[in-house]
Amino acid sequence: MALDAQPIPSLVDPFGRTIDYVRVSVTDRCNLRCIYCMSEQMQFLPKQELLTLEELDRLCSAFVRRGVRHLRLTGGEPLVRRGIMDLVRALSRYLNSGALDELTLTTNGVRLAQYADDLAAAGVRRVNVSLDSLDRATFARIARGDFLDRVLEGIAAAKVAGLRVKINTVALKHDNAAELADMIRWAHAGGMDITLIETMPLGLIEEDRTDQFLSLAEVRRDLESIWTLQELSDRTGGPARYVRLAETGGRLGFITPLSHNFCASCRRVRVTCTGTLYMCLGQDSAVDLREPLRASRDDTLLDAAITRAIALKPKAHDFALPVRGAAPAVARHMSVTGG
Ligand code: SAM
Ligand code: SF4
Repeated sequence: MALDAQPIPSLVDPFGRTIDYVRVSVTDRCNLRCIYCMSEQMQFLPKQELLTLEELDRLCSAFVRRGVRHLRLTGGEPLVRRGIMDLVRALSRYLNSGALDELTLTTNGVRLAQYADDLAAAGVRRVNVSLDSLDRATFARIARGDFLDRVLEGIAAAKVAGLRVKINTVALKHDNAAELADMIRWAHAGGMDITLIETMPLGLIEEDRTDQFLSLAEVRRDLESIWTLQELSDRTGGPARYVRLAETGGRLGFITPLSHNFCASCRRVRVTCTGTLYMCLGQDSAVDLREPLRASRDDTLLDAAITRAIALKPKAHDFALPVRGAAPAVARHMSVTGG
């Protein structure tokens, strides 16, 4: 280090929260079109708008230098990004050096069978797989694609490769409400945690989300008539709350952005596939990192932009319970920001 070089400060926001977790969307594209996430005819971004793999590496490295310990790659579907394994392998240098505790991935599982061994070899220890139904027709209706078997093969391959798998399930009033208990049973029998997610009003889609909104407070009451839910203190720096089911021994998470306020302990930020850093999933405060990335090979501008951004992290999100026919609280789709 040069004598006059200042150490770069770690990322502490105006409310004293240390940011140590970053989710990075590596693409807005996907091989599914889940009804709550995308419209059937999605317009994807022109390729040149997306960060290149090299830019993604520089961006992640900038966060790691500032003390970020957890990186999660997401999308869109991260496993449809060409060269994704090159990025994962490159980032694994921080696992080897001890700078990162964890490098993880959120995937729909369709291509997981193909990548499971490589992910494990690169040091990935766990993956989140999104799965909203175990019934083939229901799955195909929700995901707008008949890929249940591929996802189940992907999950099996991940386990064989030694990856821990957590299942994420969006609770949908009309499509899978009746199936949630069975999905929990299935996940726990297979040694997997499962997290239920309330639909969030992100991005315009064809459906009216108020029709599908299912309060997890309601779901939880139903589950309490089947199992004993033991409150756990585990927090992940994000919106999930966890219980253990005494009878299955497995963990169950609830992500309830609309009916619960989780913001006080939020240590996360998200970067879109175009390099926009969002301080909060439910707010529009954002800073562009692509411009400083492309303006110079040196990271001084990038580091300064990250510092500016963290100073903007809001205290809490602005989500409100959905109102019939209302525009989404946040116009961008989850597939752009990354879930
Ligand atoms: N394609 C990958 C997948 O599905 O896991 C990663 C990206 S996806 C946007 C990440 C997560 O966001 C998924 O678990 C998905 O179910 C969830 N998601 C997408 N849109 C949502 C919405 N409007 N409300 C709640 N969860 C949403
Ligand atoms: Fe694709 Fe994931 Fe969105 Fe489904 S939730 S459309 S798999 S990005």
